[in-house]
Amino acid sequence: MSEPKINEAAEIIKNSENIVVFSGAGISTESGIPDFRSEDGIWSKYDASYHGSYHVFLENPKPFWKMHNELSEQLENAEPNAAHKSIAELEKMGKMKAVITQNVDMLHQRAGSGKYKDIPIYELHGSYAKLECIKCGKEYDLDEIDTKNVDYPVCDKCFGFIKPKVILFGESLPMGVLNAALNAVRKADCLIMVGSSLQVTPANSVPLIAKESGSKIIFVNKEPTIMDNLADVILEGKAGDIFTELMKKIK
Ligand code: NAD
Repeated sequence: MSEPKINEAAEIIKNSENIVVFSGAGISTESGIPDFRSEDGIWSKYDASYHGSYHVFLENPKPFWKMHNELSEQLENAEPNAAHKSIAELEKMGKMKAVITQNVDMLHQRAGSGKYKDIPIYELHGSYAKLECIKCGKEYDLDEIDTKNVDYPVCDKCFGFIKPKVILFGESLPMGVLNAALNAVRKADCLIMVGSSLQVTPANSVPLIAKESGSKIIFVNKEPTIMDNLADVILEGKAGDIFTELMKKIK
């Protein structure tokens, strides 16, 4: 971790009043949830175009639910880490104005984001804890459904397939949520991107919009990304360690 870069990023944060965070799966790896594209990520064990495909799900939900059940324990046992908590702390300080996340794990909310100043949390890819029947739309909470002792759960009203309200590959994003998130980015004076390979569209338009709007941009990521040219400061390393150091300089 480079001290001058931490200082540079801390200065930007101190001088910003309208910060927006954009997070990806990498922010939650230190909480025990694997990301997608790292060496030991989810796609090293499962096939994105099969287990994660919306079109496959519509024909046969069994592969998706097999993956889901194997990963659900990690999601259920995960606790927010120092990065999630620091982001909530920045909201408490009045600096953070919105959290945009590609994650479905709800760790931002559990760390306190949205609690201190009631800022919006835009979950671009949904949340794992809410489910719905893809035929009649009946909604369920995860704890209402037995997903473990069946090949796949079906609706008690119409026998349609039940699916978590997360966006699978081939499915469109909720446009209202995306547009509201992009509007928050347009108003921001600083965007902090943390833990994303920035390969998933259209979520990866967030740093492009920030650049167009003249916002300062800080990237916090373990590896280089395909959009590093957009960042004013790149902090390479583990998000939990980096945010811990940043918060020491900001408080
Ligand atoms: P990704 O797997 O494509 O990229 C993750 C990035 O985070 C990588 O560049 C990696 O180097 C970096 N990273 C890993 N650990 C890190 C750490 N400790 N600190 C800093 N950086 C770290 O993930 P993505 O860009 O978010 O896109 C994939 C999709 O994965 C998203 O749509 C998301 O919905 C879904 N996803 C979500 C979860 C979750 O909810 N926690 C988990 C897996 C996948």
